[in-house]
Amino acid sequence: MTEKPKVGVYVCHCGINISSTVDVEAVAEFAGKLPDVKVAKTYSYMCSDPGQTLIKKDIEEHGLNRVVVASCSPRMHEPTFRKAISEAGVNPYFLEMANIREQCSWVHEEIEEGTAKAKKLVSASLAKVRLLEALETTEVDAEPAALIIGAGIAGIQAALDIADAGFKVYLVEKTPSVGGRMAQLDKTFPTLDCSACILTPKMVDAASHPNIELLTYSEVEEVTGFIGNFDVKVRKKARYVDFDKCTGCGDCAAECRVKDRFPSEFDQGMGKRSAIYLPFPQAVPAKYTIDAENCLYLSKGKCGKSPKCQDVCGAGAINFDQEDEMVEFKVGAIIVATGFDPFDASRKPEYGYDDYPNVITGMEMERLVSASGPTGGKIKVNNGEEEIEPKEVALIKCVGSRDASVGNEYCSRVCCMYVAKQAHLLRDKLPDANIRIYYMDVRAFGKGFEEFYDRVRRENVRYIRGNPSEIFKRGNKLVVKVEDTLNSRPLEDEVDLVVLGVGLEPRADMREIMELLRLSQSPDKFFLEAHPKLRPVDTATDGIFLAGCAQGPKDIPDTVAQAKGAAASAMIPLARGKVTINAQVAIVNEATCRGCGYCVNICPYTAIEMITINRFGNEVEVARVNEALCKGCGSCSAGCFSDSIQPKSFRDSQILPQIAALGVMR
Ligand code: SF4
Ligand code: SF4
Ligand code: SF4
Ligand code: SF4
Repeated sequence: MTEKPKVGVYVCHCGINISSTVDVEAVAEFAGKLPDVKVAKTYSYMCSDPGQTLIKKDIEEHGLNRVVVASCSPRMHEPTFRKAISEAGVNPYFLEMANIREQCSWVHEEIEEGTAKAKKLVSASLAKVRLLEALETTEVDAEPAALIIGAGIAGIQAALDIADAGFKVYLVEKTPSVGGRMAQLDKTFPTLDCSACILTPKMVDAASHPNIELLTYSEVEEVTGFIGNFDVKVRKKARYVDFDKCTGCGDCAAECRVKDRFPSEFDQGMGKRSAIYLPFPQAVPAKYTIDAENCLYLSKGKCGKSPKCQDVCGAGAINFDQEDEMVEFKVGAIIVATGFDPFDASRKPEYGYDDYPNVITGMEMERLVSASGPTGGKIKVNNGEEEIEPKEVALIKCVGSRDASVGNEYCSRVCCMYVAKQAHLLRDKLPDANIRIYYMDVRAFGKGFEEFYDRVRRENVRYIRGNPSEIFKRGNKLVVKVEDTLNSRPLEDEVDLVVLGVGLEPRADMREIMELLRLSQSPDKFFLEAHPKLRPVDTATDGIFLAGCAQGPKDIPDTVAQAKGAAASAMIPLARGKVTINAQVAIVNEATCRGCGYCVNICPYTAIEMITINRFGNEVEVARVNEALCKGCGSCSAGCFSDSIQPKSFRDSQILPQIAALGVMR
């Protein structure tokens, strides 16, 4: 027999967050007179330890068996209060929260209005809490392994941390080598460490770690399952080179008929590579790959050269018949570390990136200034007539960032400092050049950033406050047209080289990952975290975490810090060996389900399947919910024509009285 409800109502002040616009004492007094309410109290911070203790003591003293907390959003503290009442012996699902902060005090200015609405919300919560059912959580085993998608610095760091803790890691990278964008950089701000020098040891560690299985030139094709039990399918793309046999000697590339013919992705198209190639000398793994699109043998069926790469490979590693291979495995957690794309400067045609070879991007500058780059670190540019060493250099910040015209209103967080760093490196290589930086603001917020910015200014780099409107050609010079807004004077500066400090954008292929893992985007189009402050590495899908620039622009130290955070969070289910399954799942009434399958298509978490049952002597199809996958979102319930599927705690019988108590139903 169901116990008669004995309800405690707790109204929170939230400091003055709620109490400045809601008369909390009046709400408690009102609640105290409602049916089944045994006690109604207020407290300054209900989520604090004394606040929780107050509830627990009342449960003991008054024999309460249901609790209503009128405070903030359940998204914020429902787990806190569930835990508190469960510690006092009440089923954690006998709790209802009335959100009188976001829905009352934050949206009403008049205390009368806020208070009246708070009373209604408390009445509605009371109407529902009486009808709630006791629910039990269950636990399932978690696979002690993690998948990391993307092997830039974020993915590598997360992989090393998880592997060092003793768990298996599958590190999947789309391109032939690990390293990501950081491998392309010359020096890193503000310490000027050589990027390759600090990154390559980590790349090697990741490749040689006994707990890390590196899957380069591979793509995740399918992910099914749920936290603790994800089933993953990865496509290992054919390299046409036997991974185990290739020694990385490079004899093949030297003999390639189309040697040094194609733009090198690593050198941002400024250097060339052959059809069989190693992306860069320090690539990990040091294994060659044939670019099938450009290899004459693979694309046209005939190379026409003798000896061709296959003939000169002493290791017999080249195999033109190699095919893609599918690899399948199970993991307990996933980290998305897919990084960013630099802003495409062609989208600002006024800067002439597509028209003038001496207008280059920040990423191109990194390769140009690097000793391992296409010019060996010499700063040489083509002004349309000849190759020159520039005497007049302009760097422009915020290209593609803080710019509503290209849809990017956010700050990319790194351009202020990388542009300052590039000015410093240019000063080193071009001691007599005039170097100026056009800027809107200087945001030197990180450790050592302001000091570095001061240093660059002392190196005779001029900062001109103004956002250039246009770059055009005059003779063999480029003209930067800008208004110097500090001195209110229009300028037309003639220069030999323009470096566009392009910002960071979400990767072009991020939609595929979004669909694969059912993730969401924030307004800036990077992946959305579960909570911007309290759960910055989690996603809305349990067991899937974010690391690095996939979640938003950040510099290397922040990327590494976030990767370590994501690794720590991902390791929780792996270390526990178990995961708790949400109890508020949907349930199907098999007696009324018509087997239409409509809910299967609606469920965003693929939690519903159709099964055959015997109903009154007939074989019929009905829906069945996989409780481990269901998030209790209620979408299926809204779509079912026969009301046959409903989430526990949100059944019609529970929410219709709640709505009626608001006075919106008759
Ligand atoms: Fe504020 Fe919510 Fe804590 Fe109350 S329970 S103090 S409303 S955060
Ligand atoms: Fe050397 Fe053969 Fe590997 Fe080419 S494929 S790098 S020739 S071992
Ligand atoms: Fe159709 Fe509803 Fe049954 Fe789903 S639960 S198959 S929507 S009748
Ligand atoms: Fe899917 Fe949501 Fe229904 Fe659960 S409640 S089965 S997650 S639609």
